[in-house]
Amino acid sequence: MRILVVEDERAIADFISRGLEAEGYAVTCVEDGIDGETLARTGRFDLILLDIMLPGRDGLEVLSNLRREDGDTPVILLTAKGEVEDRVAGLDTGANDYIPKPFAFEELVARVRAHLRRPGQGTATELEVGDLKMDLLRRQVSRAGKEILLSAREFDLLAYLMRHPGQVLSREQLLNGVWGYDHDPGTNIVGVYIAYLRRKLAIDGEIDPIETLRSVGYRLRDDR
Ligand code: CA
Repeated sequence: MRILVVEDERAIADFISRGLEAEGYAVTCVEDGIDGETLARTGRFDLILLDIMLPGRDGLEVLSNLRREDGDTPVILLTAKGEVEDRVAGLDTGANDYIPKPFAFEELVARVRAHLRRPGQGTATELEVGDLKMDLLRRQVSRAGKEILLSAREFDLLAYLMRHPGQVLSREQLLNGVWGYDHDPGTNIVGVYIAYLRRKLAIDGEIDPIETLRSVGYRLRDDR
């Protein structure tokens, strides 16, 4: 699966491409709208991630030019804060989805997967580990059949853990995978959110699904 990323902020483009490559996608990045449009119109890509504010030509114009000849290739807009009107315009112009910045990598991957799903290929948008179930698109979580309400960040953290069941994940891995490019590496935010998650996932008499490995990291038990 080939993904085109049109994004002029180098840090974000790097973050997206490293992450998507780790998920097995082939990624091409360009920094301006004119190159972006030229590549988008080659038809060589299965999905396009498109920033709106770009040098050369803005993302909405690229999208509208692309849609004149290609109505099918999924396009996900990356929108900065305060561009609500642009998002609406983007959907009118034929974007399939948009992701507000800053975003967690988990959310980006969930949307990319959802839009790349071909009919009959089955759903890759649900995760199940032990008695935990997660619907990535509806952003719903349940444990032992009981629905659990999570904040956006708690959800992304649990999604990351559920994608790596049984694996020991370091705090740094979780920080990069969930908080992404705009995190402060000095914080203990991972520990804080693990504690929030534990509290919400707790069921009387049941074992804590998240194991702490002192000075190493965390592990979501898959042996329950
Ligand atoms: Ca930009």
